[in-house]
Amino acid sequence: MAKDLIASFGEMLIDFVPTVSGVSLAEAPGFIKAPGGAPANVAIAVARLGGRAAFVGKLGDDEFGRMLAGILRDNGVDDGGVLFDTGARTALAFVTLRADGEREFMFYRNPSADMLLTEAELNLDVINSAAVFHYGSISLITEPCRSAHLKAMEVARQAGALLSYDPNLRLPLWPSPESAREQIMGIWDQADIIKVSDVELEFLTGQESVEDDVVLTLWRPEFKLLLVTLGEKGCKYYTKDFRGSLDGFAVNTVDTTGAGDAFVGAMLRKIVDDQTVLQEEEKLREVLRFANACGAITTTKKGAIPALPNEAEAVELLKRD
Ligand code: ADP
Repeated sequence: MAKDLIASFGEMLIDFVPTVSGVSLAEAPGFIKAPGGAPANVAIAVARLGGRAAFVGKLGDDEFGRMLAGILRDNGVDDGGVLFDTGARTALAFVTLRADGEREFMFYRNPSADMLLTEAELNLDVINSAAVFHYGSISLITEPCRSAHLKAMEVARQAGALLSYDPNLRLPLWPSPESAREQIMGIWDQADIIKVSDVELEFLTGQESVEDDVVLTLWRPEFKLLLVTLGEKGCKYYTKDFRGSLDGFAVNTVDTTGAGDAFVGAMLRKIVDDQTVLQEEEKLREVLRFANACGAITTTKKGAIPALPNEAEAVELLKRD
């Protein structure tokens, strides 16, 4: 059987978002549960597009943890790598976009179950059978999860998987901006594919520019693909042999949550079927146009997971432009 599993490692949690928009957390009259966590979103994005996906991480042995595992299964994601911690709760994040445009976060992670995943608990069968191993940086913040993350990367690499990294910077979770930068860059050289947003590019390089000379300071000879996503403006791509950019799709955006995860899931879904896209620019452009379309569609509905497209919806948007 062809190796086509995409295993996504890290946190899955519940975002609580206000029932009304444009208020501060203190002013919010109520909150709605929205399942999230970037690595879990990526796994569901892959499965919704017909790919084989697994999630590896830890949830609380509580109502919310079981609910999240159910969401993975209902969406066709293999949950064989999911563990439940009896001593800690599923992570919660209260998130709001205030009227002044500032995002406000309040996390309940002191510690949450995802942070307590240990090396010994890793489901190595799932990781060993992955063709692509995808991860972020939130799982690097504290031990023991940090060691589990590093071990999982090592096992995946030895099993011949492509390593895919989306740092997903969440500054409030780090002890300091310096430690975020240092730890995010600490595993930089080990990836095959890295995706950063324009905001992350600026944070990591310290330069307010998405020009090639700035992006290329993050390039390493071992990389197969480096991507910079630019919100509604699309994305830029860099490989050893070629580089370029692709415009995004104009859509009616209502909530951009999960756009980057949809983009990554869509891209990995295609790469796992045909890795020659990493060497052939025309093929890569086709894949990234598809990823841009999936990112765009995700912004047209509230929440991440409910908004992730299936193949038919993506093809529909591709036909339109
Ligand atoms: P992240 O969610 O990681 O910050 P981006 O916001 O750059 O990443 O979005 C990832 C991709 O989703 C973009 O490259 C683009 O293809 C698509 N996208 C994001 N926002 C929009 C938007 N407002 N309109 C159309 N496409 C979008």
